[in-house]
Amino acid sequence: MELKGNWNFPTSIRFGAGRLRELPEVCRALGMRRPLLVTDAALARLPLVATAVNACTESGLECAVYSNVQPNPVADNVMYGVATYQAGGHDGVIAFGGGSGLDVGKAVGLMVGQSRPLFDFEDREDWYLRVNVSGMAPVVAVPTTAGTGSEVGRAAVIVDPTDHTKKIIFHPRMMPGTVVADPELTFGLPPQITAATGMDALSHSLEAYCSPLYHPLAEGVAVEGMRLVKQWLPAAVEDGRNVTARAHMLIASSMGATAFQKGLGAMHSLSHPCGANLNTHHGLTNAVVMPYVLVWNRAAIEGKMQRLAAYLELPGRGFDAVLEWVLALRRRIAIPNTLADTGVRPEHAVQFAAQALADPSTPTNPVPMTRDDFERLYLRCIRGEL
Ligand SMILES: [Zn+2]
Repeated sequence: MELKGNWNFPTSIRFGAGRLRELPEVCRALGMRRPLLVTDAALARLPLVATAVNACTESGLECAVYSNVQPNPVADNVMYGVATYQAGGHDGVIAFGGGSGLDVGKAVGLMVGQSRPLFDFEDREDWYLRVNVSGMAPVVAVPTTAGTGSEVGRAAVIVDPTDHTKKIIFHPRMMPGTVVADPELTFGLPPQITAATGMDALSHSLEAYCSPLYHPLAEGVAVEGMRLVKQWLPAAVEDGRNVTARAHMLIASSMGATAFQKGLGAMHSLSHPCGANLNTHHGLTNAVVMPYVLVWNRAAIEGKMQRLAAYLELPGRGFDAVLEWVLALRRRIAIPNTLADTGVRPEHAVQFAAQALADPSTPTNPVPMTRDDFERLYLRCIRGEL
């Protein structure tokens, strides 16, 4: 079976190896003549970006690169991008990269048409109604990691430097107009990044599946997304040029982000303060806290774990089988066991617990959480007390 397709759910997706060459045509179809390619500083130095820019230039598009984008991107990364877009007379955005490049690209596409400040569009109540939709730029998303799934998301996660929290900027039309999903772009990822980003995809599907909201569409996407991770993440980590493994992980990543319209949970609540304050890797942090959160939520998710264990064809049954699988997967792909291994210390627990409580992922954790709960859970994750 050729791992290739043109899909229209949840947006227009051109999926398959080698399809980066269709980027100029996709830009044109969205009305772009002068696209601004937004990516992170590290990626901008790799041949990948030059290949994309050259393809656009050779087809007659005037394409420039903006790469003042850091991991765990901050508001300035977006606003300098907006200034670059306007100074260059651009007419669309190619959001290119892992989560940082994709999120900043999408946020630039939103902000080029707004007069209010960025955090006025945080995902609260009906704040998205403040957006001047007609000013938004068209966006093509090109993922280069398999984890964030931001290429099919309607939001961008940006750090607010005034309080060191990650804020979600949301508008339904932030969903990119077209995604070019080419697994060959992920060939160059080193094993530890493949592992960490892949576990982010798993955490999205797993948390969405466990969220108490009623959303069978999302649950269906989530369980198959988890099956693909189970089958293909170890192979992608062990052989980065295994195109079958890379392809399945790339779509598992999009599936995770599609599923999490149902909500996330405490894995992300715990992870966001670590990333915002200590710059820990998002996917890695989720992977570390995953088993501790599962155990914490156990009473509320036993029934769902029964079904999941059966679908994943795990050797045991129910919750214990899923927990064993997660622990074995972490060991196999060299994920550290405790938050202490990522630089989080017990003295961070009080401050981070307050931020975790306020995190937008918290209301859909299967077990209601208090600030004390988060503090205890942080300490378990730091000390390795499962
Ligand atoms: Zn995530």
